[in-house]
Amino acid sequence: MRGFQFKAATTPSDAVSSGADTAFIAGGTNLIDLMKLDVVTPTKLVDLGPLSFRGITLDSAGLHIGALEKMADVAEDPRVVKKYPVVSQALLKSASAQIRNMATMGGNLMQRTRCGYFRDTDSPCNKRVPGSGCPALEGENRMHAIFGVSDSCCATHPSDLAVALVALDSVLKLQGPQGTREVKLEDFYLLPGNTPDREHDIRSGEIITEIFVPAKAWASRSGYLKIRDRESYEFALTSAAVVLDLDGSTIRDARIAVGGVGTKPWSLPVVAEALKGRTANREAFAAATEQAAEGARTLSQNGFKVSLVKKTILRALSEVGGVA
Ligand code: SF4
Repeated sequence: MRGFQFKAATTPSDAVSSGADTAFIAGGTNLIDLMKLDVVTPTKLVDLGPLSFRGITLDSAGLHIGALEKMADVAEDPRVVKKYPVVSQALLKSASAQIRNMATMGGNLMQRTRCGYFRDTDSPCNKRVPGSGCPALEGENRMHAIFGVSDSCCATHPSDLAVALVALDSVLKLQGPQGTREVKLEDFYLLPGNTPDREHDIRSGEIITEIFVPAKAWASRSGYLKIRDRESYEFALTSAAVVLDLDGSTIRDARIAVGGVGTKPWSLPVVAEALKGRTANREAFAAATEQAAEGARTLSQNGFKVSLVKKTILRALSEVGGVA
C-alpha cells in the first residue's frame, strides 16, 4: 500500500471539492482491498462516513435509500422485505453478515470487478492499465461475461444489488462540484468498448447521495435467484432478478435483469416483452426464456453460461410466479 492523504468530510461540498485523484471511502470493504494490492493508488482519500446521506423512506413516489445506509439495514428493513423482496434477497445473497454490516449501498454499486487479472498487478489489464491488453479473452475466463463483451474487456460486473435495482428501474442521485443530478442506474454503468477503465457515468468529484426506486405496486411479487459454485458467499456464475405483474394468472408486465453474465447489470426487455399477455405457466416462462441469450458472445471457458442463465431465469420466474 502506498502513502496517501486522509481526511473525513465535514459537509457534502467539502467532500466533492477535494480535487483530482481523490478516492471516496465509505464502508471500505472493496477499496481498502484494492489499495493493499496496489490496484488502486489514490493520493487523497476522503471518508464520507460523517455525512448525512442516510435513511430509508417509503412514500407515494417510491423508496428512497441514503447512499450511506448499510447493506444489512436495508436487507432487513420490513418495508423493503415486503414491498421490494428482490432488493432484500439480492443483498442477503451478496456477502457475509460481517460485510453487510460494514458495506454501504452506494459503495456496493461502485465495487470493482473480481477479474483475477485486474487484481494482479503483475498481469496486463486494460481496465487497470489502459492499452496493456486483456489476458482474460484467451485465458482464464470461466467467470467472465457473455453480454457486453468487447475486444478490450470481458469482466463481469460483480454487484447483485445492482441487478435487482436495474430490474426495478432505479435512479441514482449524485452530487458533485457542479451541483446535483439524477441518472438511471442502468445508464450509469458503461459498456467496456475501447475504454474499460471508464466504468461509470460519474464525473470528477461526484458522489452518490441517494438510490431511488420508483413506486411499483407489483414489485412485491419479485425475487432474486443466484447460482454460484458453492453455497457460502461467492460471486454469481449467473443470477436473475425477476418482477412480475399478474392479473389473476395473466402476466400484465414483467422486468428481468441478470447478473454474473454481463459487463454491466444486464436487463432483458426482450424476455419481459415475450411474457406480456401470456398465462403464467412453465410453458410461457420457458418460451420467453429461450430468447435470453440473444447476442451472447461466449469465450473459451464460459459457454455453459448460455444455458445456465436461461435455467436461472426460468427457475426465478417459476418461484416468483408460484408455478411448480
Ligand atoms: Fe482486465 Fe477486463 Fe481483461 Fe479482466 S477482462 S483482464 S478486467 S481488461
